[in-house]
Amino acid sequence: MGCLFCKIVAGEISADVVHQDDTVLAFRDIAPVAPTHLLVIPKRHIEHAGVTSAGDAEVLQEMLAMAATVADMEGIADGGYRLVFNVGDDSGNSVAHLHLHVVGGRAMGWPPFPRS
Ligand code: AMP
Repeated sequence: MGCLFCKIVAGEISADVVHQDDTVLAFRDIAPVAPTHLLVIPKRHIEHAGVTSAGDAEVLQEMLAMAATVADMEGIADGGYRLVFNVGDDSGNSVAHLHLHVVGGRAMGWPPFPRS
């Protein structure tokens, strides 16, 4: 009920939407970490990538297809980009609605964080 991204889907909170269809929505992250930083979300609520089921297979494929579409629209498809699902506290996950980060427009190192 209090889900931030459900409110964006419902139009109750504004977002910089770049593309959408019946089932998924892509919008700009409010605190970008790279020249292009988009979030792709399912319009129906799924808590996070660690709790998906077989019934979510179609929407997960649609999220990946949407990520590829918006990467192309943003001009980062050729240079490459990173797709990230954060799950749980150690990942820094802060919004409890499944979202796929699409990050690009600059070279990114690997691993993303120093080895410990
Ligand atoms: P995560 O840390 O994986 O849970 O990612 C949540 C992301 O949502 C963060 O990168 C935030 O910057 C982003 N975010 C939070 N609120 C908003 C908002 N109202 N509009 C767009 N992005 C948001």
